This record gives sequence, structure tokens and C-alpha cells, in this order.
Amino acid sequence: MHKIPVTRSSMPELEEYVKEIESLFETHWITNAGEKHEELAERLRKYLGVEALSLTVNGHAALELSLELLNLRKGGEIITTPFTFVSTTHAIVRSGFRPVFADIREADCCLDPDSIESRITENTVAIMPVHVYGNMCDVARIGEIAKRHGLKVIYDAAHTFGVRLFYDGEWRGSGSFGDLSCFSFHATKVYNTIEGGAVCCHTEEESRKIAELRDFGIVDEERVRYIAPNAKMNEFAACMGLCNLRHVDSEIGKRKRVNDLYRERLKDIKGVRLIGEREDVKANYAYFPVFIDKEEYGMDRDRLFTVLAENGIGARKYFYPMITELDCYRESYDSSETPAARRAAGQVMTIPMYSALTEEAVDKITGIIRNRE
Ligand SMILES: *Cc1c(COP(=O)(O)O)cnc(C)c1O
Repeated sequence: MHKIPVTRSSMPELEEYVKEIESLFETHWITNAGEKHEELAERLRKYLGVEALSLTVNGHAALELSLELLNLRKGGEIITTPFTFVSTTHAIVRSGFRPVFADIREADCCLDPDSIESRITENTVAIMPVHVYGNMCDVARIGEIAKRHGLKVIYDAAHTFGVRLFYDGEWRGSGSFGDLSCFSFHATKVYNTIEGGAVCCHTEEESRKIAELRDFGIVDEERVRYIAPNAKMNEFAACMGLCNLRHVDSEIGKRKRVNDLYRERLKDIKGVRLIGEREDVKANYAYFPVFIDKEEYGMDRDRLFTVLAENGIGARKYFYPMITELDCYRESYDSSETPAARRAAGQVMTIPMYSALTEEAVDKITGIIRNRE
């Protein structure tokens, strides 16, 4: 049986990559902010529409370095979402803060601003929202709440590569909001550097400090200012990034075609809910989540997941289990305090989404979902 995976990493033609790495075999400069790294950082800064940016070894490191940069009071509370990839929460805990979970909005799975506000205490130091599936958070209200309470905002923008939001009369890059925004360029994301990430900042002073924090805290040959890890991107990863960046708009265009086909084919199926599209967002079609209402659909998400698997179709229960149900967090938290997130985790499934997905495959997948077999 021909298998359909849930995702497929974007890669350039082999020749294009070989050409890109050729100079590395002459210079032997293969890491430590070499030529390719610097070129990629500048190209990404422009592409993402941000003022300053530092590359990192992965998206998780970007989150941890961001928390380090802001000099927040250790032990403080950071309000975040239980409906995310574990990296978001792990970054908070590993950096010495306490995650406090607010609930999400059913409509887009992003944090609900009212719920954020209800969780603020005198111990709160920051908010770490996630633009889930590439859906933009309510950045205006979150920014207003943070300002009123004197809190920092770090966006986990891992899902929003290339997303633009119409805000205050102009199209702005998803990484330009909050105090800092973090991207992941992992192989499974819309855009990849194999493994990689970036912290988007508002000033070059900040991005320079991130550059020190990702390199053991080294400032120059004789000065080490911070006790910091090694979280640098290497030149081969940067070369993959330079190649993939040339094709990312076309990749997103192909994903849009898959998205449009899915929406057409999955329309009006009782018990299958999709996230709505927004006029004020240029999307990247990173994921295609569907929500299965057991009563209305007549089958639960887990059963449909199994039926798809039996037909060779890879889906993912993304994000299930929710963070507060994972072994390492369940003792300390109560999932019933975030009921919308709990409901979403019980209903959600992301179905295959990548640029090379054929119409035939879409027909097969949506046929199974429609016929429930
Ligand atoms: C992928 C991802 C990360 C982590 O990025 P890596 O590059 O894999 O370290 C963090 N947060 C979210 C929401 C992600 O999807």
C-alpha cells in the first residue's frame, strides 16, 4: 500500500545544495558565525520583516535564550498555554520559572486574553503565548494587557514562518510582535535549516546579546560575560536555509493549494470542524488540523485516527496529550482548569500537509473522513 506521511521536509535539488556548500570546502570555516550564517541571518531578517534577528541551533534554544536575555526575576510565573509542543513549557521550567496555564480560544487554539488576565498575580513576570498552527494570537490585546501589568511578552512563533498580519494599517511579519519572537527551522516546519531557529528582537543590541548567549557567553577573545550554553547554527545548516529560502514562497503556494482542496472536500461534514481563515492574515498553511466531535460525527478522534492509519495515512494527534497531562507535568497541574484546551486536545488531529501532497492523496484522505471508513 502506498503510504502518505503526515509531513515531508522541504529540500532543494541536490545540485543546488552542493553548489551552496562548495566554498566551505575551500575556507574550512564551518561554524562560528561564518559567511553563510551571516548571509542567512540578514536574508531572514528581511524576509520575516523584523528589526533584528539572531540565528540559533534550534527553536528550543531560541526560547531559552530569550528568557535569559530579558533578565526576568527567577522563580517568577510565566503565563502560557497547555496546548502546545512541550518545548514551550520545558523552556520556561528549565530556565527557572513557573509556568501558569491559561486557557485557549476554541476558534483558533491560541491563548484567550481574558484567561491570561485572570491568571496574573504579583509573581507574574511574563507571558509566553504560541501562535498555534500558524494562527496569530490576539497580539493587540495581549500587548495591551502586558503593558498595563508591566509584563514581558515572548511569542513562540515556531509555527508562523512567513505569516503576515495586517496590523495598524500595514502588513507585518509574525515575528515583529511582543518583546521577542522565536522561530523554529526544524525539518518538519514550513521552512527548515535541518535543525535551526531564531530569536527576533527590536534592537541590534538585543540580537548581539543573543549572539553572546548562544556562544558560551563569550564577548571576545579575552572576555566571557555570561554563563551560557552553546547554541550556534553551523554553516551547513545555514546553507540548507539559504537554499530553502529561495523556494519557500512557492512551497507555501503549493500548501495553499492543498489547504483549498481540503476545505472544499471537508465542507459540511457533520461533526468535523476546521479553523476558519482570516482576511487580515497571510497564512503559511503549516498544519491542517481537524476537530472531531464524537457525538455529531458518530466516531471519536482516536477511532478515525486508526482508520486513517489502516489506510496508510499518517495523521498526528497534535497536541495530545496536552501539556498538563504529560508525565512530567501532570502531578503539578489540573487540566480541568483549562477546559477549552482539554476539549481541543481530545478532538484534534492534524492530517497530511506538505507541498508535494497530490490531489489524489487529498481525495483519498477526505473520502475516508467523509465516509467514516
Ligand atoms: C517545533 C517547535 C518548537 C521547538 O523547535 P525546535 O526547533 O524543534 O527546537 C517550539 N515550539 C513549538 C510550538 C514548536 O512547534
